[in-house]
Amino acid sequence: LFEVNIAALADENFERALILSLHDLSDARRLERMRVDFVANASHELRTPLASLLGFVETLQGPAKDDAEARTRFLAIMREQAQRMARLVDDLLSLSRIEQHLHVRPETPVDLIGIFRHIADTLSPVAEERDVTLSIIAPKAIVVPGDRDELLRVAENLIENSIKYGASDPRTSDRHVDVELTTHGRQAQIHVRDHGPGIAPEHLPRLTERFYRVDAGQSRAKGGTGLGLAIVKHIVARHGGRLNIESKLGEGATFTVTLPLFED
Ligand code: ADP
Repeated sequence: LFEVNIAALADENFERALILSLHDLSDARRLERMRVDFVANASHELRTPLASLLGFVETLQGPAKDDAEARTRFLAIMREQAQRMARLVDDLLSLSRIEQHLHVRPETPVDLIGIFRHIADTLSPVAEERDVTLSIIAPKAIVVPGDRDELLRVAENLIENSIKYGASDPRTSDRHVDVELTTHGRQAQIHVRDHGPGIAPEHLPRLTERFYRVDAGQSRAKGGTGLGLAIVKHIVARHGGRLNIESKLGEGATFTVTLPLFED
C-alpha cells in the first residue's frame, strides 16, 4: 500500500514544478488504517437503523400519536430495524471473539457432514420459500478437528448466501444449490455451488473484507450485515484451512473450504 502525495510548487522564476512522493505504508500503519475504517464502517452501519428507529419513535410520540393504523405499521418497521441492529452487533461480537482466538487451533473431532446436513435442514424452509433445491453429496464420514459452533456458522453463511444471492436471483433459471463434501489426501473439501448471476472478477478478491458488498442495497434488503464472509474467512483460518471463491458472471459461484482432516 502506497500513500501518494502530489504538490505543485512555483520556484523564484515562477516556473512551476510538480513534486510526487510515494510512501510505502508500514504494516503497522496499514493495520491502524484498517482499524479506523472498521470502526467508521461499523458506526455507520449501526447509525442508519438507529436514526430510523428514533425517527419513528418521535413520529409515534407526536403526529401519529392517535393513529392506530400508523402505529401497527411503524412498529413492524421498528422491529425490523432493531433486529438488523441486533444481527450486526452479534456479527461484530462473533468476529471479535474469533479474532481473539485466531492463534488457538480447535482440536475437538467434529462430524463435518453432520454439520452441513443440520444447516441444510435448518435452511430448508428458506430454500423452499424461494423455490430453491438444496442437495448434499457426501461420503460416509468426514471428521475434522474443530469448533462445532464455528463450523456451523461457516455452513450457514455459505449456504444462505448461495440461496440468497445465487439460486433465488430472478435472473437464475437453475435454482439448485449443491453442497459437495470430499476428501483429498489429508484434507477435507467442501464446495458450495450455485448457478446464479455470479460475481464479477473485480469484486472477488474483496468479498471477504468486512462490510464489502457487491450491491449494498440488495444485501441490506436481504438482511445481510456485510460481515458473513469475513467471519467465514476468520473461522477457516483459525482451523488451519483456506477459503477459495470462484465465479464467472452469469455462471454462478463456487465457495470452496479446505480443512485439515482429524488424525488420531
Ligand atoms: P452479506 O451480509 O451482505 O451477505 P457476506 O460477507 O456474506 O455479506 O457477502 C458479501 C457479498 O458477497 C454479498 O453482499 C454479495 O454481494 C456477495 N455474495 C456472497 N455470496 C454470493 C453468491 N453465492 N453469489 C453472488 N454474490 C454473492
